[in-house]
Amino acid sequence: MKAARFYGGKDIRLETLLDPAPSPGQVLIQVRATGICGSDLHGYHAKAREAQRPRTGGHELTGQVVAVGAGATKHRAGDRVVVEPTVPCNDCPECLSGNYNICANLIHIGGAAFGGGFAEYMVAPEDNVYTLPNGVSFEAGALTEVYAVAVHALSMVPVQPGDFVAVIGSGPVGLTIAQMANIAGATSVAVLGKPDGPLQLAQEMMGAVPINVDTTDPVEAVQAWTHGRGATVVFEAVGGAAPTLQQATEIAAKRGRICMVGGHTVSLTLNTRAARSRELSITWSFCYGRRDGKREFQIALDLLGAGKLDPTPLITHRFSLNEINEAFAVAADRERYNSVKVLVLP
Ligand SMILES: [Zn+2]
Ligand SMILES: [Zn+2]
Repeated sequence: MKAARFYGGKDIRLETLLDPAPSPGQVLIQVRATGICGSDLHGYHAKAREAQRPRTGGHELTGQVVAVGAGATKHRAGDRVVVEPTVPCNDCPECLSGNYNICANLIHIGGAAFGGGFAEYMVAPEDNVYTLPNGVSFEAGALTEVYAVAVHALSMVPVQPGDFVAVIGSGPVGLTIAQMANIAGATSVAVLGKPDGPLQLAQEMMGAVPINVDTTDPVEAVQAWTHGRGATVVFEAVGGAAPTLQQATEIAAKRGRICMVGGHTVSLTLNTRAARSRELSITWSFCYGRRDGKREFQIALDLLGAGKLDPTPLITHRFSLNEINEAFAVAADRERYNSVKVLVLP
């Protein structure tokens, strides 16, 4: 089969590998759509390390079951499925309490152990494979993982009527959190980001107030939007090297709740004096686990199946597997291409 192999940084090569075969308890999937994630891009922007072992990336994927391994009974050949990419140990205190996202032994599909979705075929443990609801396309289903991140963020910092919710970041995670806050009943949602394309999308899709951080002062804009109070809830969905923790505290209302979702590659500084005197709460949110015994990935999938969330407008670009390098170039340069979610269709 053809697979995109990631050697670190921008070194992505299309190679021919042996077709994978499902081990006991595994499902063999023909990949139909795989999203490029912000975490993939952090790796893309990083300097390539020498002698890095290549891996097949891609953890936001849908496809069709081709075969199942011995003892796997949940799925049959032909099933349309979506893959949850985190494989927990199911044996540590975190797993046993439902917080398997912070399992110390967590394995990621698309990492070293399991090849991911930037390939024609992949295998996954059957527990990680969910049936796509009728009416959810392969392309839309590929965003389930992003919505699961948003479900977990709102589990960590719930939103309710009365809240003015500011989302820092207009990438896929920021926009899905904004959508989720909207259906959770927020009084008003604002999205802070750049460029204008994704901000316009936020306005059209969910009536969010767009705040371009390049052309306006974000603190002043949030003050104007909240009648001088500040955002009661702030979600941060940028990560990388962006100084967004400090920015979140500057736009939050007194006693505001801040949820840090983006994956930062640097340590952040914060004016703790101002945060203390205004009694801000700061929470971090990572991936997704179980809420009240139910997997947040399933909650996200159910919301898509029920038609509560439409991911289609977020899909701005599509490429074949052969065009994997173009796909990453477009996803990485959001300002030039106004890209939000870029899909690879193997
Ligand atoms: Zn992702
Ligand atoms: Zn565990």
